[in-house]
Amino acid sequence: MMTLLEAVNPATGEHMEDIQETKIEEVELYYYQARTAFEKWSRLAISERLIYLKKLKSVMVENMDRLAQVIVQDTGKVPTEALVADIMPTLDAITTIVKHAEKILSPKRVKTPLLLIGKKSYVEYMPRGVVLVISPWNYPLQLAVVPVISALAGGNTVILKPSEVTPLVGKFIEEIFQKAGFPKDVIQVAHGGKEVGAALTAGNPDYIFFTGSVGTGKIIQEVAAKKLIPTTLELGGKDPLIVFKDANLKRAAKGAVWGAFTNSGQVCMSAERIYVEESIYDDFLNIVKEETEKLIQGTNEDSDIGSMTFPKQKEIVKQHVKDALEKGAVLVSGSPPDKWDDSMFIQPIILANLKQDMEVVCEETFGPVMPVIPFKTEEEVIKLANESNYGLNASVWTSDLKKARRVASRLVSGAVTVNEVLVSVANHYLPFGGTKDSGIGRYHSEEGLKIFCHEKAIILDRGKRNKEIQWYPYKGKYAAFLKLFQSYFHERKKWIQFLRSYLKLLKK
Ligand code: NAD
Repeated sequence: MMTLLEAVNPATGEHMEDIQETKIEEVELYYYQARTAFEKWSRLAISERLIYLKKLKSVMVENMDRLAQVIVQDTGKVPTEALVADIMPTLDAITTIVKHAEKILSPKRVKTPLLLIGKKSYVEYMPRGVVLVISPWNYPLQLAVVPVISALAGGNTVILKPSEVTPLVGKFIEEIFQKAGFPKDVIQVAHGGKEVGAALTAGNPDYIFFTGSVGTGKIIQEVAAKKLIPTTLELGGKDPLIVFKDANLKRAAKGAVWGAFTNSGQVCMSAERIYVEESIYDDFLNIVKEETEKLIQGTNEDSDIGSMTFPKQKEIVKQHVKDALEKGAVLVSGSPPDKWDDSMFIQPIILANLKQDMEVVCEETFGPVMPVIPFKTEEEVIKLANESNYGLNASVWTSDLKKARRVASRLVSGAVTVNEVLVSVANHYLPFGGTKDSGIGRYHSEEGLKIFCHEKAIILDRGKRNKEIQWYPYKGKYAAFLKLFQSYFHERKKWIQFLRSYLKLLKK
């Protein structure tokens, strides 16, 4: 039976297109094709593989406006954010990978210790095989394409399952890879929801790169663990944003508004807990309220905040805000959930008078909600910030850069920005990933290419000699080895004793 994925524009409710779901029975064929394509693709030189990535970039540049429109229609985000936060990072990742992949993934000579005299040592990067990439709906382009191209550059073939919530972008991704002329089955896109995702996970990939919720990440990790399939898990966050009294207050407030409300707060590294030093708390609250109330909601080119993407997420946001208001939180800006209409737009919300155990403070909200909490001391705010199951990103705002570095070093977080918010993800040279429930592993940077390869150690001997000192027989060698190691590992190496023992061993 053919199952269809309905593409609905969340901002308008308009039904746009139906996309044919991949049948579960087809999963086996996907893997067969991916393994067949691997034979040739993995044997291409890295530079040959990068030619396809360059073509992909050109196709994206040529189709940029259309791509932005598709993202807008599928997610309800504003066009500027489709361009700046989904398309640009993807193009930048391709550019960086094309520039550096060859150097990063080429075999490297490393040092060989004197005890292994006469040999050479190398590290080689061997593709793992078939990589499964499963991606979410909030940045449906970059969170799918960046791991895919990182795996492809290393010589793997890839099966991508984009989110069923944004199927038009999934289809578009398939189209741009086709237009870029990648060889058949080097990259295959499977469309569908969690059943298709689960079938693909069970289908024996050689690596799983997953971005999504903690719940799904744990399910995938369990399946993978049973077969010892390595994974990267990029999961949720509840990122703290800390404002000290010596910060540039206007900048911090504007940064917090952007960090909390960009993409309607549907960002894994959204500023979801704002901690403000007590003496500037009221001033900060006044500025964020003023700045927030200036924002324009809609989905045209001048809009600041779009709609929510996924109806279920709107319900979670509603629940968190209700819970907070019922427990005594104060609504500083926005409207209470019982006044929300049926559309997918949520007016940005600022909350005060919060407690650490409210859902909106301790669980991922993933919506346009800014809880603002006062603190008294540096020690206290570090403790509050670290008191979370998550640890993806954090930001620290102060004019004292020494303090900023000190606090940043103590935050249990995959990344920290100082007097900035979110942008660490936009620097492809920096590793990206989380601590605690925010995930396992890192990508972007050199790491993002190496994870998709077996890091292979090679030691090379010219094979001229007939024996090695450590080989059999051991007879009469113990005392010589004792002297050899005592001289070699001594604080001040005893070279004469070393040489004598070595020559003795050679003669044995
Ligand atoms: P989700 O976990 O519901 O779905 C993610 C993907 O997994 C989708 O493609 C879905 O179809 C698939 N899936 C669902 N169940 C599956 C299963 N049992 N087996 C295999 N695949 C399955 O997450 P979502 O709602 O799409 O995304 C939102 C979440 O993603 C948030 O928690 C957010 O913080 C997180 N996220 C993390 C990052 C990051 O880089 N750390 C980036 C973006 C989003």
